Amino acid sequence: MSIQARVLQLIRQQHEISQAELRFQTGLSASAISGAVRRVQSLGLIHEVGSLQEALGRPRTLLSLNADYAYTVGIQLDVQQSHIVLSNLRGKVVHKAQLSHAGLIPAQIAEDVAHFISEVSGHRIVGIGLAVSGIIDAERGVCLDSATTVGWQNVPIGPVVAERTGIATSVENDANALALAEMLFGEARHDRSFIVVTLGKGIGAGIIIDRKLYRGRTGVAGEIGHLSVSSAASYRCSCGKTDCLEATASSRAIACALSERLGVPVPPEHLRETLQNEPDVAQDILGHAGTRLGAVLAVLATVFDPDALYVAPEQSLHLPAFQQAVTTAFQSGVLPLCRAGTNLRFLAESEDMWARGAASVAIERFFGTAVQA
Ligand SMILES: [Zn+2]
Repeated sequence: MSIQARVLQLIRQQHEISQAELRFQTGLSASAISGAVRRVQSLGLIHEVGSLQEALGRPRTLLSLNADYAYTVGIQLDVQQSHIVLSNLRGKVVHKAQLSHAGLIPAQIAEDVAHFISEVSGHRIVGIGLAVSGIIDAERGVCLDSATTVGWQNVPIGPVVAERTGIATSVENDANALALAEMLFGEARHDRSFIVVTLGKGIGAGIIIDRKLYRGRTGVAGEIGHLSVSSAASYRCSCGKTDCLEATASSRAIACALSERLGVPVPPEHLRETLQNEPDVAQDILGHAGTRLGAVLAVLATVFDPDALYVAPEQSLHLPAFQQAVTTAFQSGVLPLCRAGTNLRFLAESEDMWARGAASVAIERFFGTAVQA
């Protein structure tokens, strides 16, 4: 990594930083640092934001990222409705909208994105990020397989959107995108290694090791929803197996189990309400699902020994009874070897967090090429 890229990375990570602190953190000379700062500043990517007066010596000028230098667009693709946001370089959403698709036709999605961009004209847009649930070839921008959500196979959505808009477009698995957003702007800002487990219709995980996203050899890393948990699952999983975590602990599985017990169908939009109105049945079903999920989280904690594990449940499963079951199984499953105890936290879902995650993917890509690497 060049000195300029390192300097820019440190300035991004810390809100405000002086050249003296940059010297201290990199071990580089004053002239090397001031040269790199000057070059990054001449690009407009950083600016001076005041000074720090210490007891002795000259006041130190503080540098900060010029967060509004440019913007990225983030889209969370979903069957019924996709969220789209415009974000500055610090992940602050400055404009958002919802896209209703009549079927998920790539050319139509590209058209919708182009329309959104025309509505926010006046902003310099340096990248587009798309988050899709499924297996993604991030290098080529192709959705290889998204059985549970959008039903795509080998769809080159990245190139289609890039072609229509003329803007670099990145495609990423949604759990990976969320993990990246948490690392850059969220709860995991200070973690070196962590895992974000997403829990909705499907179950996935974004794995960050040493502040880098780990996708695995073919993009399958983190597909924990298809781990066998050896229990009577609610249905045959989309992958063909019958003992998947996803078929036991996803919101779809929980709704299935609930429908069976109550003898009436429970549509997704009534899941939370029904669980709250039927506390005894809910306790049973959430206990069973939470125990399976907690055990898998304990395996992740043992395999990766991360700083923290974050669980991001969809709104309908953001329930104390569920969290309790997950936490109890997690704690009893973690090896006593993990002496310091792995931090397990639950993230509350917000409306645009997924789209913001997608925008983060484009932000990260932009900074990867903003200065000579
Ligand atoms: Zn499966």
